[in-house]
Amino acid sequence: MNTKKIALITGGSRGIGEATAIRLARLNYNIVITYNSHENDANNVLDNIKKINPDCMKIKCDVTNKENVKEMFMKVEKDMGSVDILVNNAGVISDSLLLRMKDEQFEFTMQTNMFGTYYCTKNALPSMIKNRWGRIINVSSVVGLRGNMGQSNYSASKAAVHGFSQSLAKEVAKRGITVNVVAPGYIKTATSDVLNEKQKETVLTWIPQGRFGEPDEVAPTIAFLTTKEADYITGTIIRVDGGMAI
Ligand code: NDP
Repeated sequence: MNTKKIALITGGSRGIGEATAIRLARLNYNIVITYNSHENDANNVLDNIKKINPDCMKIKCDVTNKENVKEMFMKVEKDMGSVDILVNNAGVISDSLLLRMKDEQFEFTMQTNMFGTYYCTKNALPSMIKNRWGRIINVSSVVGLRGNMGQSNYSASKAAVHGFSQSLAKEVAKRGITVNVVAPGYIKTATSDVLNEKQKETVLTWIPQGRFGEPDEVAPTIAFLTTKEADYITGTIIRVDGGMAI
């Protein structure tokens, strides 16, 4: 029987999720990456992580759809086993000043970033409790800590993830489960690529280190939180932001 731990990374097809999948595969976990719309990207990531550990799989799942999430967890359980490590990474932005923001933009962002995290965590938790071991890492954003013009929806969704994570950390602390948040600053991915050059110049003035981060500068912190060395860390929010939220 395969006794390796199973790590599921939502939104593992690109960006921070991709870098995390590679890091966690190197820690010798069996990896499940989920994707929503970019199957080719997910295939590429899967090919790469399979070179590290052949026992990996990809699965399509829209985290905003609770039935879809439930079916996805059932399939993973059947094909691979129960999830020991959950990285809630899937996320979207849909920026606008509040006055101009459409309800759909606000709902879509909350639905993906907050409800997606909730649905996945709810499905992962029962087996973690049964096994008396689990690691949940929620990827939020420094914008959830300090707000940002044009991102009231995104900021609210990520601040909600903070409250959710800290409450859950208290609920499951005695069951061998830790729940932590990694809050990146501006990282070079498709998400931050929507900024034009002028916006990028402005953002750079907010970052003491004077540069955007790389996905592989966030992934090691997520990976650390899954290890034995991080056993006594729960309910924390770790910023990986070049000092942006100081
Ligand atoms: P990317 O845009 O590069 O990738 C987003 C990932 O989320 C993709 O794998 C995408 O899947 C998946 N995804 C989006 N919507 C859904 C959905 N409804 N269901 C399932 N999966 C979905 O994002 P980043 O790597 O930049 O961001 C990863 C996380 O980090 C997000 O939570 C983001 O908010 C956060 N973050 C990013 C920052 C940055 O500057 N990049 C800064 C702070 C936080 P697919 O491609 O298949 O659709």
